[in-house]
Amino acid sequence: MKNIMLDLETMGTSSNSAILTIGAVEFDKDLGILDRFYEIVDLQSCLDRGYGRMSVNGYTSAVHRVMYVCVNGYLPNKIQVDHICNNRLCCNPEHLQQVSCKKNHKLRIKRSKK
Ligand SMILES: [Zn+2]
Repeated sequence: MKNIMLDLETMGTSSNSAILTIGAVEFDKDLGILDRFYEIVDLQSCLDRGYGRMSVNGYTSAVHRVMYVCVNGYLPNKIQVDHICNNRLCCNPEHLQQVSCKKNHKLRIKRSKK
């Protein structure tokens, strides 16, 4: 079983607060810490695009995609990560689901009509 502890630093406590940093540790109760992750989010990207962006191993990616991969593992490039809660700044793993581009577009239209 994969055990991951996440630590988010945010600009506030509301659900739409921008995320400043993401820290994660993968651990095993018998073996201890297996892997570590810590990255800073580009706050300007939150303002410009509505999505937080960050650099990981020299690649820039959306924060919610990074979070999804931290918790669920590999994510193919063509697959998109949908915010079930409809909050672009959110990266709660329980609010994220992988979808095709076509389904993501349909969901966006459906949610904009509410
Ligand atoms: Zn959310």
